[in-house]
Amino acid sequence: MAYEITVDMDACEGIFACLVRDDRFAEAEDGLVTLPGGERTEGILSATFDDDQREAAEQAAAACPTDAIEVSDA
Ligand code: SF4
Repeated sequence: MAYEITVDMDACEGIFACLVRDDRFAEAEDGLVTLPGGERTEGILSATFDDDQREAAEQAAAACPTDAIEVSDA
């Protein structure tokens, strides 16, 4: 089932605990996080995936110290 990862960019502090849990998370030019195919709108980064990597995304969400990441059904 497809799922969406969202990151609240106001909450993201570029700590990058997420990267080691899910390597789709990467550092953007501004020092905050980005995702492949991700779009930033009004302070929210969002990307939709349909693969077997949801668990990795959920581990990244659990590891984020500022609770900026959410994973939900798309
Ligand atoms: S772990 Fe959280 S605060 Fe750190 S870069 Fe990832 S989303 Fe941003």
